[in-house]
Amino acid sequence: MQLEKICVFCGSSDSIDDAYLDAAWALGESVAKRGLKLVFGGGRTGLMGFLADAALAGGVQVIGILPRLFNTPALAHPNLTELRIVDDMHIRKAIMIEAADAFLALPGGFGTFEELFEVLTWAQIGLHRKPIGVLNVNGYFNLLIDLIEHARDEGFILEEHPDLLIIEDDVVRLLYRLTQYLPPEGLERWVDREEESG
Ligand code: AMP
Repeated sequence: MQLEKICVFCGSSDSIDDAYLDAAWALGESVAKRGLKLVFGGGRTGLMGFLADAALAGGVQVIGILPRLFNTPALAHPNLTELRIVDDMHIRKAIMIEAADAFLALPGGFGTFEELFEVLTWAQIGLHRKPIGVLNVNGYFNLLIDLIEHARDEGFILEEHPDLLIIEDDVVRLLYRLTQYLPPEGLERWVDREEESG
């Protein structure tokens, strides 16, 4: 599939290893090399700042969607192509999910997990069919991947739903795989399931 806009969720913390910041920069560069528009949370801190600065340096449009609460000099990125200030976190996520053709998560904390899982749950109930990936920098997501497999083994996640998530440790391969993504068959199963007897 042809991608035009990619949405990236990532950590806002500055108290992290440089390897994570370097990965955010590399992703921003690759997004720019592919001529993609970047949609993200609009922050200047942590991975968000590095990602946005790299994409801007590469000459592509960078659109931040920032809740009013975060619109302060310390938090908001000062230099984006467009900064959209929205009323709350719910509206922000709805706009991000609607605006982009694909979603990526870089390492992050609760905010990143929540955004990643919202976009995954919307996919599993068939609200969208867009590709979702994680950049597994230094194995950061290994425990999360194990948890997803455990949830599937225990029957909490349908067999085919872990395939909604593309996992890669290489930025270029990850972006390529987003373009090749085909949603798993039968995504309507979650909604259309028959009542199980027994
Ligand atoms: P976290 O992973 O907890 O650091 O949260 C990062 C995610 O939550 C980002 O993808 C943002 O969309 C949102 N977020 C958290 N903190 C901020 C902030 N200071 N400025 C903008 N967005 C933020």
